[in-house]
Amino acid sequence: MNKRELTCIVCPRGCQMTVEMGDEITVSGNLCPRGKVYAQNECVNPQRTVTSTVRTSDGGVVAVKTEGTIPKAKMMECMEIINSIVLDLPVKVGDVAYEDAFGTRIVVTQNKE
Ligand code: SF4
Repeated sequence: MNKRELTCIVCPRGCQMTVEMGDEITVSGNLCPRGKVYAQNECVNPQRTVTSTVRTSDGGVVAVKTEGTIPKAKMMECMEIINSIVLDLPVKVGDVAYEDAFGTRIVVTQNKE
């Protein structure tokens, strides 16, 4: 049986979990069910939210993030998309910077005139 130690990142408590992978995935050390779901996903299909900045038409940058999560294995490709974006100003929180990055949108997370 394959065993792995994981820190839950779903909430600030940061439970230390042990995941055992055999015919089933068993999780211990989690204080709530969300930790178990996180651990199972992390072992089967790890996902990440990407936060970064994109260039703006004034030569500066503005903060963005993926609205949902993307597969961890796609993070570099997602950064290539983010690095290719130049937004016209003004922008506001929630504006869509990119419509479909691996199944989620990339949205602006700050206002800029
Ligand atoms: S298992 Fe639950 S309580 Fe523990 S860090 Fe994860 S979300 Fe928080």
